[in-house]
Amino acid sequence: MKTPACDRVLPLSSRMARLGTETAFAVSAEALLHRQAGNRVFPFHLGDMNIPTPENIMEAAFRAMKGGKTGYCSNLGIPELREAVAEDLNQSRGTHYTLDNVVIQPGGKPVIGKFILAFMNPGDEVLYPNPGYPIYESQIEFHGGVAVPYTYREGADNFELDLDALERAITPKTRILILNDLQNPMGAEASPAELERIAALVRKHDLKVLLDEAYFNTRYEGTSRSLVSLEGMEERCVILYTFSKKFAMTGWRLGAAAGPRHAAVAIGKLNVNDESCSNHFNQYGALEGLRGDQSGPRRILEVLRARRDLCVELLNAIPGVRCFKPRATFYLWPNVTGAMERTGLMDYEDFRRAVLRETGVSFCSRVHFGRPLPGEEQKYIRFAYSGIDLPDIEEGLRLLKDFVAAGRRPARAASPQGGKTSRA
Ligand code: PLP
Repeated sequence: MKTPACDRVLPLSSRMARLGTETAFAVSAEALLHRQAGNRVFPFHLGDMNIPTPENIMEAAFRAMKGGKTGYCSNLGIPELREAVAEDLNQSRGTHYTLDNVVIQPGGKPVIGKFILAFMNPGDEVLYPNPGYPIYESQIEFHGGVAVPYTYREGADNFELDLDALERAITPKTRILILNDLQNPMGAEASPAELERIAALVRKHDLKVLLDEAYFNTRYEGTSRSLVSLEGMEERCVILYTFSKKFAMTGWRLGAAAGPRHAAVAIGKLNVNDESCSNHFNQYGALEGLRGDQSGPRRILEVLRARRDLCVELLNAIPGVRCFKPRATFYLWPNVTGAMERTGLMDYEDFRRAVLRETGVSFCSRVHFGRPLPGEEQKYIRFAYSGIDLPDIEEGLRLLKDFVAAGRRPARAASPQGGKTSRA
């Protein structure tokens, strides 16, 4: 039979072979299939949120839409919002920004690719966290850079940057450091001493820094610190800023790049070439988020804190699981080596699929956060609690505990559908 015209292959550019993705989306797709087959799913895989955006923010955006803010706006974003972001950064990080240092973006994520395009030349080496947000590796390689991983190790009460290894990874070709502090997927954060040491390395090797601070405000105890506050950093850092997490606005697609004025100009030029401008009326919602009543974000944090506490308690009650309690982000990175050994499922994907099939509990694992590094022996999975309510956390983790306690399973190629999970 003749192939329909719309199914014929149009050859892609060679650079497309270097473009990675978020394989966590494949986990979402499997969880959806499992649900569509009539099973109950406990969604710990999502970095998305099931908490509504605060009412005052929605109303402000709606008012702006009704008030005619439906055309294009400046490629840099509306001045009032750029000013409000600059003020927020100055208050929380001690920077000296004005609106000229801030460019509004359709989410925090686009800052990654735009920063790489603006500052990385082909062949440059870029240090990036691994395990880490997979888009760093993807964008570095897509644009012809060399992605050089650095990693974290288990400390006393949270994961710690392996700064000696990071320093050893610097070569004469290293141009950029990507730092995600507070970190997805591990919930790690740098101590003041570690930030000082990173700043010293950045100064010594004259690096540019992409500072991904997507979770700066998702903090339950203590105060977030930023590398940009340290000597010599304001001129070297571009901050990835987002409205997604603090205000539960993931689907609004609104964030910003903030940094030296010339960086803002360059990134603004990329905006013109990509999307022209970010959504106009949404920006008035974000403005209300920053300038208006703050009870919404406070409530969001309370909801997340209760989920974190319950998740950590229940995960640590599972045999063979060890889980830190990070003070920020909405992720947990439990060590599950013992649990995997008990079940006999030592392959990450075998384990994940068997758990999904038999319990409906869905999560991502190490393999979804960058290419595994040589010598990794301990096994980790990621639990996100931003998209799941307390009763489901309780039930899902009880089922996971029973699954592990039941012991050895045969590894088999798993189909995510048709499990024996309780029905939805
Ligand atoms: N950076 C990190 C580390 C993230 O985890 C995310 C989202 O999950 C982002 C950036 C981008 O988020 P958004 O594009 O919604 O602002």
